[in-house]
Amino acid sequence: MSNNLEYLEKQVEQLKKDGVYRTLPINEGPCDNRVSLDGKEVVNLSSNNYLGLATDKKVMEAAKQAINDYGAGTGSVRTIVGNQLLLEQLEELLAEFKREEAVTVFQSGLNCNIGAIQAIVNKGDLIVSDELNHASIIDGVRLSRADKAIYKHSDMDDLERILKEKRDDYSNVLIITDGVFSMDGDLAKLPKMVELAKKYNCLTYVDDAHGSGVLGENGRGTVDHFNLHGQVDFIIGTLSKAIGVIGGYVASKKVVKEWLLHRGRPILFSTALPPAAIGATLKSVELLMKSTKYTDNLWENAKYFKAKLDKLGFDIGKSETPITPVMVGKDALTMEFSKKLLAEGVFVSGIVFPTVPKNKGRLRCMISAAHTKKDLDFAVEKIEKVGRELNII
Ligand SMILES: *Cc1c(COP(=O)(O)O)cnc(C)c1O
Repeated sequence: MSNNLEYLEKQVEQLKKDGVYRTLPINEGPCDNRVSLDGKEVVNLSSNNYLGLATDKKVMEAAKQAINDYGAGTGSVRTIVGNQLLLEQLEELLAEFKREEAVTVFQSGLNCNIGAIQAIVNKGDLIVSDELNHASIIDGVRLSRADKAIYKHSDMDDLERILKEKRDDYSNVLIITDGVFSMDGDLAKLPKMVELAKKYNCLTYVDDAHGSGVLGENGRGTVDHFNLHGQVDFIIGTLSKAIGVIGGYVASKKVVKEWLLHRGRPILFSTALPPAAIGATLKSVELLMKSTKYTDNLWENAKYFKAKLDKLGFDIGKSETPITPVMVGKDALTMEFSKKLLAEGVFVSGIVFPTVPKNKGRLRCMISAAHTKKDLDFAVEKIEKVGRELNII
C-alpha cells in the first residue's frame, strides 16, 4: 500500500479537530412519522416526505406490481432499451398534473439540474442565479459553459440591475431560482421575476423541489400557486420529496423535451429509473390528483405546529410553507439543541454554517401529513423543555 491517501487522512483528521466530523444515523425501518434511529424510536421532524406517501400502502403495492410487470431494473439508458412504457405513462401523467405541454423524467432532482442546465445554455449565454439556490443548481451552472451572475437572495432590484447591465452582452440569458427556499421556507418572487424576464427577454428556470406536492391546487407547485402556467420556461420538480419516491423532472414546452432527449446527459449516459420507483411514483401522483386530503392534512399539521411554537415565544422565521425553522443563533448551541432533542425522542436536524451564515443556526422542523397530533404535541413539549433549559425562550 502506498501512502498516497495520506492527504485524505489529514483532511478527515481536520474535520474531527473542527468538530464537524459526522457519522450517519441509521434508520432501521421505513421513513415515517416516527423512525427507529440507532435503536431508539423518535418523532421524525427531518424528512422531506411531506405527504406521507413514502409509506402509503397503495404506493408500496404499485411498486410491487411494477416489479412483477417490468422486472427489477431497466437494463439500459433511455435512448437504448430503458424507455419502458411505464415511464412514458408517468411523463404523460406528470404533464397533466403540472398543466404543462411535456415532462422529461430524470433519475433524481440533483441529476435533473445537472443535466438540464448544461443542455439548455452554452458559451455566449448568461445564467443569473439567486445566491441561495440549491447545490445541484450550482453544480449544473458550473458544468454549463455559460457565464454566471449571482443576485442577492430574492432581491428583484438586484436582479434587474444585473439584467440592465449585462443583457445585451449575451445571446440567451437564463434566470434560475428555487421555487421554495429549503432553509427558510420562503417563496421566490415569481410574478416579478416573470415580469422582468419578459421586459429583458430572458428565459426562466424554477426548481420547485420543495413546492411540488405542497403548494398550488392538489400540490401542483409554486407556478400553479402564482397562476403562472405557460410563463416559466423550465419547471423542475422532484419525485423524491412530497411524491415520496425518487426522481426529478422538467415540465416545459414539447421542444424542450425533444432537446433534452438528445442532449440531457443523464438520459443518454445513465440507466433509467427502475420500474418499482416509476410504478410507485405513478400511484403517488394519481392519489394526489384525485384528492386534496394529502395537502390539506399537511397544511393543517403545519399551521397547528407553527401556532404552538409561535405562542411559546420561539422565533420561527418567515416561512410560507410547512418548513418550520426554529431560530437558535450560535452554531454550537444549535447543535446542542438538536442533540438534546434526540435524547428526548425528537429527531430534528440542526442547520449551521456553511449551509446558513455563521451563527444563524436553526433547527429545521419538517412537518408532514404523516404526523399525528400526538406526534406534534410530543415534539412541541420537548422543544419547549429543551428551549427553556438552553435559555432560548
Ligand atoms: C432536494 C433538492 C434537489 C435534489 O432532489 P433529489 O431528488 O433529492 O436529488 C434539487 N433541488 C432542490 C431545490 C432541492 O431542494
